[in-house]
Amino acid sequence: MNTFRGLGEDPEYHPPALTGRPRDWPLDRWEEAPRDLGFPDFARYQWRGLRMLKDPDTQAALHDLVYELRPRTIVELGVYSGGSLVWFRDLTRLMGIDCQVVGIDRDLSRCRIPESEMAGISLREADCSVLETFEPLRELAHPLLFIDDAHANTFGIMKWAVDHLLEAGDYFIIEDMIPYWHRYSPKLLTEYLATFRDVLTMDMVYANTSPQLDRGVFRRTTHGR
Ligand code: SAH
Repeated sequence: MNTFRGLGEDPEYHPPALTGRPRDWPLDRWEEAPRDLGFPDFARYQWRGLRMLKDPDTQAALHDLVYELRPRTIVELGVYSGGSLVWFRDLTRLMGIDCQVVGIDRDLSRCRIPESEMAGISLREADCSVLETFEPLRELAHPLLFIDDAHANTFGIMKWAVDHLLEAGDYFIIEDMIPYWHRYSPKLLTEYLATFRDVLTMDMVYANTSPQLDRGVFRRTTHGR
């Protein structure tokens, strides 16, 4: 599942290069100008020169959520080139939020964040299928925004987070996967999600803002703890 859209490609951001057409198009041939870029958009998404595997509508939704929640900690499972960690750090700083950003990945070799850009960001190399990895996270500041973008042991992690980490109002987001799981294994997905019904609710604003966040934005309730 982790092989589509971005993964397996070059983690380095390369500015868009047009092929088969000039960048400066002559205006006396305005009508013949191509109406697309001629290459897939996704590789173009970046933040300050680091690739970011989030669509613009997802970025806009997360901007709004961060503004509303004012998280003191953001944990993202799945770092890849690290662009989204730097984006979250910069975004919270611009909003005047004192926030720590934590990235976890089993393979940090693709992370491209320069040493000079690491303020407010910590990286941990660990496998999501080993739950002990998450023990040190217990001490984190709240409100907390927790994003699963690695998709290994997601429901095990979600259960651990509900039991040990999330406080009322904190968020747990499953990025990208809900529509796939719903297509290929709808019964299991609805059964798994139902087991969280006393402790998490779906936030009907952010769960409907972008395909990557589709039905995967959950908020810790006040009961059940
Ligand atoms: N969050 C990033 C993209 C992450 S891509 C962004 O928005 O830009 C998914 C990442 O999950 C990959 O870097 C991959 O190495 C990591 N991953 C996959 N399986 C994992 C596992 N079992 N444990 C930890 N990380 C894993």
